[in-house]
Amino acid sequence: MLNDDVPLLDQHCHGVRTADLDRHEFELLMTEAERLGRDRSPFDSMLGVSLRRLCAPVLGLDPHAEAGDYLARRTELGWLTATRRLLGTSGTRTWLVDTGLTALPLTSPAEFAVLADGQAREVVRLEAVAERVAAGGVAAADLADAVERELRARAVSAAGFKSIAAYRGGLALPGRRPDAASVVRAASRWLSSGRGRLDDRDLLAWLAHVGAEIGAELGLPLQFHTGFGDPDLHLREADPLALTDFLRSTSGTGATVVLLHCWPHHRNAAYLAHVFDHVLVDLGLTIPHVGARAGAVLAETLEIAPWRAVCFSSDGYGLPELHHLGAALWRERCGRLVDEWLADDVLTTRDAERLVTGIAGANAARAYGLDWPQA
Ligand SMILES: [Zn+2]
Repeated sequence: MLNDDVPLLDQHCHGVRTADLDRHEFELLMTEAERLGRDRSPFDSMLGVSLRRLCAPVLGLDPHAEAGDYLARRTELGWLTATRRLLGTSGTRTWLVDTGLTALPLTSPAEFAVLADGQAREVVRLEAVAERVAAGGVAAADLADAVERELRARAVSAAGFKSIAAYRGGLALPGRRPDAASVVRAASRWLSSGRGRLDDRDLLAWLAHVGAEIGAELGLPLQFHTGFGDPDLHLREADPLALTDFLRSTSGTGATVVLLHCWPHHRNAAYLAHVFDHVLVDLGLTIPHVGARAGAVLAETLEIAPWRAVCFSSDGYGLPELHHLGAALWRERCGRLVDEWLADDVLTTRDAERLVTGIAGANAARAYGLDWPQA
């Protein structure tokens, strides 16, 4: 029942590389590990087999083309043609692009929109803003005001904010915004350390609270990285349950919080969305990584999460294959899950349509205030 006609709103992704990539560069973008393991290719994984099955036909090859043949074809077409095809056939209409990752040169949201022939909006990373303000030279006593000013300026064109506290100090954020005196002390510790990378827990907590407050005022959801998805993190500290105090304190303030990725804590994230009506949950890169198991993860999320709290995203990063794969796998596996439930008389066709169109885009569109058909 779920076909290519259902448009998708990819509520969390990154830009793509605008260069032809060699095998090593390509494979590095297929894994969350920092380097490729000896004798291990990411093509030999759930993500790898799904990529060969679902992306090869987009480049004019048979499904399951061997990795070497796939990469040769990609080089023959060139990155530009391959990227246009992969993004253009994903069925995604709108992309929310996190611009905070700067380790590699990636497309801006405007460049991405042109390549994808769709709409793209920016999601602003809180920590990246604070780091840029600090790099520009600011006194400890002025850091908070300067960062807040910059966040408000960026909010004018942004769709949302994002916090990466998960891999800078962990998600156990206090329920209260740290007071002004402790923020100045933390700022002076951080600025005098000379470390550009923001990893001070007080400042991270302050930033998350400020992001939630400005977001509540201006209607911008605050995304949190949770679960796997960065080699930097301690997975134990990225369990979204650690956000419980923060979520309790932001409940009823007008803030909206979106839990990204979540695996393997997606059931915990689903629970949080169940008890807090300002919380949404998203599986992001879990879908391309678990491949054919995506239906199982989605089913586990839907065990307890309210259906209007679940959103689709690909978390595509660097490779347009990942954006395409997230969309294609989600369509296929969510479609099968819903077909199974229909056959089992768990729900009606009308219920199924509401569930699918909600996750595909309507739920995110309500949260971000974007134009989108509502069921
Ligand atoms: Zn991401």
